[in-house]
Amino acid sequence: MDVLYRSTRDNDSVVTASKAILKGLSEDGGLYVPSQIPTLDIPMKELSSMTYQEVAYEVMSRFLTDFSEEELKYCIASAYDKKFDTEEIAPLVKADGAYFLELFHGSTIAFKDMALSILPYLLTTAAKKNDVKNDIVILTATSGDTGKAAMAGFQDVPGTKIIVFYPKDGVSPIQEKQMVTQKGKNTHVVAIYGNFDDAQTGVKRIFNDDAMKEELAQAGYQFSSANSINIGRLVPQIVYYVYAYASLYKNGQLAENEEINVVVPTGNFGNILAAYYAKNMGLPIDKLICASNDNKVLYDFFTTGEYDRNRDFILTTSPSMDILISSNLERLIYRIAGNDSEKNKEMMNALASEGKYEITEEMKVQLADFYGNYSNEDETASTIRRIYDECGYVIDTHTAVAASVYKKYTAKTKDLKKAVIASTASPYKFTRSVMEAIDADKYAAMGDFELVDELSAISGVAVPNAIEEIREAEVRHNTVAEVDEMPGVVKKILGI
Ligand SMILES: *Cc1c(COP(=O)(O)O)cnc(C)c1O
Repeated sequence: MDVLYRSTRDNDSVVTASKAILKGLSEDGGLYVPSQIPTLDIPMKELSSMTYQEVAYEVMSRFLTDFSEEELKYCIASAYDKKFDTEEIAPLVKADGAYFLELFHGSTIAFKDMALSILPYLLTTAAKKNDVKNDIVILTATSGDTGKAAMAGFQDVPGTKIIVFYPKDGVSPIQEKQMVTQKGKNTHVVAIYGNFDDAQTGVKRIFNDDAMKEELAQAGYQFSSANSINIGRLVPQIVYYVYAYASLYKNGQLAENEEINVVVPTGNFGNILAAYYAKNMGLPIDKLICASNDNKVLYDFFTTGEYDRNRDFILTTSPSMDILISSNLERLIYRIAGNDSEKNKEMMNALASEGKYEITEEMKVQLADFYGNYSNEDETASTIRRIYDECGYVIDTHTAVAASVYKKYTAKTKDLKKAVIASTASPYKFTRSVMEAIDADKYAAMGDFELVDELSAISGVAVPNAIEEIREAEVRHNTVAEVDEMPGVVKKILGI
């Protein structure tokens, strides 16, 4: 059964999976969605005996139907290898009455590695299949983690260049150091004066600029995206929910078909959408618990049915979730609008022009799978401290937002189904915020790398390679630009 991909803003725009991956975003500004969600028609017993790579093949082959078995297995084997510091790829840790699904064992120690270590292979395979002769230019806006993970994935991949834009004052010190020290002949990093939404909107604008596209084509280039608007990022993210369920089943923690809840610290709505797709494939998931930080636009949306980005953008200690325009929500809106691209387009146009839209009662009813809440800065910090004190387990600020919201959820609903919390970053990536949450008096005066060593001492977890690497690394990128200079910067980098 072939799965095709359709734009959320034009039902008549239909492409194969490989074309959708190549293009990233549809020409009409819409996102590609699968024409149907395939069923996970394999017994759990069988899935639970598989390796991560084998589960990945079972899930991804059902979505990316124009990739051959050989192509897909090559992509999976190349992505999920020794770059990860554990054979399980995504291990589960039981703590604080839940299972933390550690998605940060890849090369840049955040969950973005789960998809961005395979995207370059999917993309270059898709280019070959479609006879693309141009070099592919990956343009990416990052709230801190995508940029590094994308550059690590695309570093020196033949036929590709990558340009990353990040908010100058909107990322953690370790995140910034990781990016500006990035190696590779084809990698470029630009800080912008603005926030993540500015960067993301700037990138989308370049994508939709026909004149620029033409100039690029003349020079032998074409754009694609490594942001989670690319379906090639979403599909690999479904895998770890299936794998987590299968692991729990295998270890006797779950009975046949027992439902679980999934808790996801959310920004651009990519990770939680992948969990929703897993549920729609038939994985026994009950609630999808959407956790926000103080930028709680999604909480308000789930509560009121109105999405309203007209508010102050708040810089928090979970910067990868500092987002007011959650791009992937559009895929959910399209679906609950009955796959009605016109209706979806109206709402997205309203979002672009007035900064808000409201869904109908009929659509609201279909959000019953979701529960939204948020954690403020104090709650997040005290969750880190509490879980460390009670369990000896150190979690990062983003994961703490999820753990904090999960506590609110169980207190309110008394729903004690087993829960998987997506643990999206290593505490080493947000060392300062994490250590100050644990003991502000003791740690506030210490330097970033001193704190790294302290974290290792209190957690008993060895300092990851990703951190050792940047201790002494040389800064290789120092371009800073205004948001409206972004197109010019891109042209200059490409020499056109
Ligand atoms: C990107 C990111 C998130 C948010 O994920 P979305 O898919 O954008 O919702 C959460 N935590 C960390 C650490 C991230 O890097």
